[in-house]
Amino acid sequence: MNSQTSYAPGRAELLGNHTDYNEGYVLALAVDRGTTLTGQASGDRTIRIHSRELNQDVVVDLDHLAAENVAPWSRYILGVVDQFRRHDLPVEGFSVEITSNLPLGAGLSSSASLENATVLFLSKLFGAKLDPMQMARISQKAEHDFVGVRCGLLDQIASLMSTAHHATTIDCRTNEVGHVPLDGKTSIIIANSGVKHALVGGEYNERRSDCEAAAHALGVRFLRDATTDQLKARQSELAERIYHRALHITGENERVLEGSDALRHGDLARFGQLMFESHESSRFNFENSCPELDHLVATARQTPGVYGARLSGGGFGGATINLIEKGREDEVVHALTAALPGVSCLVTEAADGALAYAASHPA
Ligand code: ADP
Ligand code: MG
Repeated sequence: MNSQTSYAPGRAELLGNHTDYNEGYVLALAVDRGTTLTGQASGDRTIRIHSRELNQDVVVDLDHLAAENVAPWSRYILGVVDQFRRHDLPVEGFSVEITSNLPLGAGLSSSASLENATVLFLSKLFGAKLDPMQMARISQKAEHDFVGVRCGLLDQIASLMSTAHHATTIDCRTNEVGHVPLDGKTSIIIANSGVKHALVGGEYNERRSDCEAAAHALGVRFLRDATTDQLKARQSELAERIYHRALHITGENERVLEGSDALRHGDLARFGQLMFESHESSRFNFENSCPELDHLVATARQTPGVYGARLSGGGFGGATINLIEKGREDEVVHALTAALPGVSCLVTEAADGALAYAASHPA
């Protein structure tokens, strides 16, 4: 049987916090770990999926796909199959094994990595020709329709389109993607605090509506359309909380643009400062940090070899991202681990996204 393999990495948010749904800017990167799918066409209408991480199997009929009837973890894969069917892309029965060296549910988007790996696997196996943005959209739609999470496109784009030693700039209005050098002399440490303080859904939705309220008060469609200067000039018209929420978003958008420029000029020191400023703004303006994350960032700030650190992702617990000088990994991991019991550190670097990876690893 003609066996195929596909791989897609996880991703991390380097700068640009809660900017996506405000149609703003983000800097992300692909990490050097991800999800691998290996399998073959079954010659009939049956789909057999085995996840090695979960040690579970799902067997379904291609002609009777329904999210309600299958194990939740398999919805990421079957949601992609469903999208192939809806787009009249070629797909038949297959058997596949999933392996992963990415922590699941740890904010590195194992979900987008699994969806993208599935898109690539099916395309290879059955010969669909998709451009990168079509692939990202299929992954996103799979998560919307089969998993029920209304995610943006960011995770899928970063996992697919990143390139090694670069950060990926994403304009969340136009979905325009660019790459800025992160040079070969940096490593990334994701420090997972292991804490979750809030019902993330509730806080997340509150922040979203605060941002909408701010945009409405400023007379713009999205906070992407306001600058920090414009916001400050109209501070007296806004409730204090709404003002500070908006200040975080306009600041983040500006920091991503300035940070991209700093990276283009190889100015890692400036970029690191912007990461610290981003965290400070999360802590004070957006109030999506927590004492544990603050402590991890304060520790990073005092540790030699660290350019910058900030909370990464939704907040209220979760992880910090640390941009560090290559070769200093052990010292920084030691300092962060000593600072907070229960923290787990993952050392990684800006790696190839799934498409660049596939191009350099021909089957
Ligand atoms: P994140 O994307 O931050 O890792 P999510 O909750 O969005 O967290 O996605 C994690 C879910 O994706 C897991 O709970 C599981 O259902 C599914 N998943 C990811 N990787 C695998 C895998 N290797 N095997 C089975 N399911 C997986
Ligand atoms: Mg996810």
